[in-house]
Amino acid sequence: MRHNHKRVLVTGGAGFLGSHLCEHLLEQGHDVLCVDNFYTGSKRNIVHLLENRYFELLRHDITFPLYVEVDEIYNLACPASPIHYQNDPVQTTKVNVHGSINMLGLAKRIKAKILQASTSEVYGDPAIHPQPETYRGNVNCIGVRSCYDEGKRCAETLFFDYHRQHSMKIKVARIFNTYGSRMHLNDGRVVSNFIVQALKGKPITIYGDGYQSRSFCYVDDLIEGLISLMNTPDEVTGPVNLGNPGEFTILELAERVIELTNSNSEIRYEALPEDDPRQRQPDITLAREILNWEPKVPLEQGLNPTITYFEELIRSLA
Ligand code: NAD
Ligand code: UDP
Repeated sequence: MRHNHKRVLVTGGAGFLGSHLCEHLLEQGHDVLCVDNFYTGSKRNIVHLLENRYFELLRHDITFPLYVEVDEIYNLACPASPIHYQNDPVQTTKVNVHGSINMLGLAKRIKAKILQASTSEVYGDPAIHPQPETYRGNVNCIGVRSCYDEGKRCAETLFFDYHRQHSMKIKVARIFNTYGSRMHLNDGRVVSNFIVQALKGKPITIYGDGYQSRSFCYVDDLIEGLISLMNTPDEVTGPVNLGNPGEFTILELAERVIELTNSNSEIRYEALPEDDPRQRQPDITLAREILNWEPKVPLEQGLNPTITYFEELIRSLA
């Protein structure tokens, strides 16, 4: 059963996406080493994996070098929610730049294949819609989101330079807004904020007029896309967009969450954060072609299990 097993390192493995990825890789029969400094991640996300003897947890900050032996590296370590990545912006740039250099250096030394969790934020506030991988983006390099946006752009630069200079096997996934279970209660991103507010009967906070749009991908679809990308032939490097092209305004999202939770929360309009992108939708033509991948779970179908997860989390903390 374990004849094709690989030793896989997942940085940021105790986070939202990382914990799902660790779980899927274990199900596929691989040895998983989860590295996390618990900046935004939580032991709760991986506690059920600790009894699996093919799972290992290492508390470590990837801005410092790491010496381990693995076959593949998924580099996910980085706070992803604006409130968290803006809390310590210098550390956010460090995790993307120093962290990526450390993980690329490790991959180079041990000849491992390495995948970078990049982001739709590399497109900034996009002037092209939907966004194909060829679009070079519209990013402010001195704004409050820049530590993340420019950090992730620099990480992509590093991945491609290591690839060209050292013939390394790299994969770059540009992930669009993804949601699902194991998001932190105070994650701060829109889907979790709205669900938690609706479940607690608190006002739903819409920033700006609510007509800005996002495209929301359910976590299971995203993880399948990430693993498919890692398993492509060596000549496939990406960048590849991974996300659900179904696009919704933030107001539409609020209305759906209120409806699905049967909440009597009111909508409260608040100031729009600086540099908040107006629209976002992935062009996934490339992912369809090279990965034969597309998301299967529409928004409403994915919101239900996410709501159940938050209901249980809130109950367990009460
Ligand atoms: P998350 O905040 O839940 O997970 C990030 C994890 O990285 C956390 O467990 C955190 O503790 C860990 N981490 C942070 N700094 C670290 C460091 N210096 N050393 C070791 N571990 C560290 O966020 P997520 O949504 O799971 O995002 C995972 C990755 O995917 C991130 O790189 C993010 O930029 C990328 N991404 C996510 C989305 C999304 O919608 N979820 C979209 C685009 C890109
Ligand atoms: N947003 C909102 N209310 C919230 C949280 C976010 O209206 O409580 C908006 C935010 O301004 C942005 C969109 O929802 O326009 C998505 O925000 P999120 O932080 O989830 O992700 P990102 O902006 O990085 O795509």
